[in-house]
Amino acid sequence: MIKTAKTVKGFVAQISRDFGDITFQKGSSEHWSPRTNTITYDSNQPLHDLRYGVLHELAHAKLNHTNYGSDFELLRMESMAWDEAAQIGRRYGISISSSHIQSCLDTYRDWLHRRSACPKCGTHGLQKDPRHYQCFNCRNIWRVSSGRFVRPYRRTHGVTAV
Ligand SMILES: [Zn+2]
Ligand SMILES: [Zn+2]
Repeated sequence: MIKTAKTVKGFVAQISRDFGDITFQKGSSEHWSPRTNTITYDSNQPLHDLRYGVLHELAHAKLNHTNYGSDFELLRMESMAWDEAAQIGRRYGISISSSHIQSCLDTYRDWLHRRSACPKCGTHGLQKDPRHYQCFNCRNIWRVSSGRFVRPYRRTHGVTAV
């Protein structure tokens, strides 16, 4: 691992230099804003989580992930972002563990599973548009909140908890 990646300050300073078009700022969670081209990061977390999170948001930025038409597409973009994050990470000698990636993607899969269940009969439905699902069984249509790229990462007990 390159030396600067060993502290939060050093890591953020290094990637700020390497990705000069993006602004990096402290905040409550990892997030990329396409509007201001700013990556927000939570500095009160273990260094390795911070690095993974920032690399992930950086990947969304590099892939220009601004919006998506369905939950499934969102999940696909999440997966692409992790692939890209892993590639960027290699330049800094940071390898993102596949168990971390899988648990983050599982968070999305669980979320998608919950959203797609019909509130009336529990059968899983099909997404009609970004805000609506329809049940295969009873034809009920329900509204869902808009998805976001930022979802809480599933934290492994004790190990990465803040
Ligand atoms: Zn139903
Ligand atoms: Zn993401």
